[in-house]
Amino acid sequence: MAKKRKVSDIATQRGTSVDDVLAHLKKAGIEVVDGVVNVDEEAIEKAYATAPSAGAPVRRRSGGGPAGKKRRVIIDAGASRRGGGQGGRDRRRGRGRNRERDQQAAAPVVPTGLVKVPSGSSVKDVSQLLGISTPDIIKTLMGYGEMVTITQTLSDEAVEVLAADFGRQVEITRAADEEAELEKEAVDAPDDLRPRPAVITVMGHVDHGKTSLLDAVRETEVARGEAGGITQHIGAYQVRHDGRLITFIDTPGHAAFTAMRARGAKVTDIAAIVVAADDGVMPQTVEAIAHAKAAGVPIVIVVNKIDKPDANIERIKQQLAEQGVVPEEWGGDNVFVEASAKKRIGLENFLDMLLLVADVADLKANPDAPASGFVIESRLDPGRGVVATVLVNRGTLHVGDAVVAGEASGRVRAMRDYRGEPLKAGGPSTPVEIIGFDELPVAGEFCRVVKDERTARSLAHKRATRLKTEALARQRALTLDDVFARIAEGQVLDLNLVVKADVQGSLEALSEALLKIQHPEVKVRIIHSGVGGVNESDVMLASASDAIIIGFNVRPSPAASSLAETEGVDIRTYRVIYKVTEDITAALVGMLKPTFEEVVLGQAEVRATFKASKLGTIAGCMVTHGVITRNAGVRVLRNDVVVHDGRIASLKRFQEDAREVQEGFECGILLDGFNDVKDGDVLEAFETREVAREV
Ligand code: GDP
Repeated sequence: MAKKRKVSDIATQRGTSVDDVLAHLKKAGIEVVDGVVNVDEEAIEKAYATAPSAGAPVRRRSGGGPAGKKRRVIIDAGASRRGGGQGGRDRRRGRGRNRERDQQAAAPVVPTGLVKVPSGSSVKDVSQLLGISTPDIIKTLMGYGEMVTITQTLSDEAVEVLAADFGRQVEITRAADEEAELEKEAVDAPDDLRPRPAVITVMGHVDHGKTSLLDAVRETEVARGEAGGITQHIGAYQVRHDGRLITFIDTPGHAAFTAMRARGAKVTDIAAIVVAADDGVMPQTVEAIAHAKAAGVPIVIVVNKIDKPDANIERIKQQLAEQGVVPEEWGGDNVFVEASAKKRIGLENFLDMLLLVADVADLKANPDAPASGFVIESRLDPGRGVVATVLVNRGTLHVGDAVVAGEASGRVRAMRDYRGEPLKAGGPSTPVEIIGFDELPVAGEFCRVVKDERTARSLAHKRATRLKTEALARQRALTLDDVFARIAEGQVLDLNLVVKADVQGSLEALSEALLKIQHPEVKVRIIHSGVGGVNESDVMLASASDAIIIGFNVRPSPAASSLAETEGVDIRTYRVIYKVTEDITAALVGMLKPTFEEVVLGQAEVRATFKASKLGTIAGCMVTHGVITRNAGVRVLRNDVVVHDGRIASLKRFQEDAREVQEGFECGILLDGFNDVKDGDVLEAFETREVAREV
């Protein structure tokens, strides 16, 4: 039966060139329209059987390759789709102007040397750039079985084919490369640099007084009458102390800090870590220290709540020293200040110390460069539209500037400072609230001034199309499986680990064992360790620092698991120390053995327990995620720490035995050999599957 078939497909199928097929078809009198024939299989066979052997030479691109294979898709997918539907119309429309165009194209200027062709150029663009007339381009590509129109976009491969056939040297350039070029850290001449205010982020454990400290600091300025009295929240503010400005990021905590860092925004110069004098070092204090250290920013410790009767400052110093944060008076290099945010004690000293640390850091920027900075936050204001706070880090931002931040672009129509006062310009370390973006820019996004609004729009558009590639690149986060390959590529010099364990003892033993691992080029670094389950903060830290998470007898919380998935962070959980060191050692030399992957099937929360004298303790559960199956392995988690690992002895729905119980249903679970189950425990059902490893 007659069927429409592309000449290029026939060539691929027969393992020959398009020219060869065309020659055979022509000799056999078969008509080819737009690179397509409408005949049955037999006719083609006959053409090959009866027509004289192919005289047409096989056209080879430089570099060669099997003739059948090399004619893959010459025109990019989008373009050929467009071309397929509208080709006829385009050609008809084009006919009237043909003479004029042909005349133009009649004597194209042949370039000498290397020609840069932007990816995505049209036939017309390529004609001008390479000095090949458009009819020649169209004819040549037709010879390869592809029909193109003058306005159509050519694939990179098609441009290379044309260049090879016409003896031109080309380099395909991509917008993304150009943009990356621009985004590279700007280098300023030392003479252009001027001192700039320090940017501070306040971190620490919940309820230790971060917000109170930020408020108290801000109010010192209000009290002095320097601010207008009413301050508004725009994500950052500044205070003047000793005639110098200090910038504070208004969102306390390391979650926001690390989320920004994970996007590449290096905003903070100094981390102020607040520790309540009556409470001491707590898990989030330890996390904050790890996050600040991983970012490489100096730490100023604020021992807060010293007004409290049970405040014990010496104990705090002791505990912090154990975390490697040692006060200067003890020979360390960390500044400690004692304060009470509530009673406003020590605030002046705190600001003095920040200035001192800033002086040591010698913070400078070029105020005259084209402005750039990072988006701190953005929101949709019902009256004003998109409102974004940008912290300028270089140059000076002016009203009227065209700006781009990721996919958002626009022109700065109005600008205000944190007091709500209109601003005309904002220099380095100044937080400015701007109106004029066409859509909400993402917090942490790099923002910069460009020539005009059109350029801004075009860059934003290019970024939007680039996002897919970036999403793919994200999956290239470091995993233990590809450590070796990345070492070989010279991409990994430190193997960063975040280590979480069930108890302090095993954490210490494990850390010690890990730090003993030797490799000639790679250093194993534990950037954070702690007791307890793997949480979201661990995942963000790992994501920002390209680290792998090791969980020893602990599990990630469901939120941490899903975050790890989106961030592409590798979480490895173990129950035996030597298995951890064995895996890391093997990964470093590229000999990681096939592993068994655990697939979590579901989780059930224990809502009540019943003692059945003969059987043991039955846990009355609610399945909160996924499914619990009778034959699955099961772990008992108490605050994300594994307290038991075994199997299910019986699974019941009402009085009936059940094979599985789905999310949202209640069930009774009796564990095999474990009766210490308690209210609030989580039972996690899992299966182990072998993961095939690519060699
Ligand atoms: P955050 O969670 O770290 O932001 O802590 P908050 O700033 O919300 O403070 C938690 C609680 O501690 C609040 O009830 C504050 O009033 C109180 N607080 C904060 N600083 C001090 C202080 O210096 N002394 C006393 N006594 N209480 C304080």
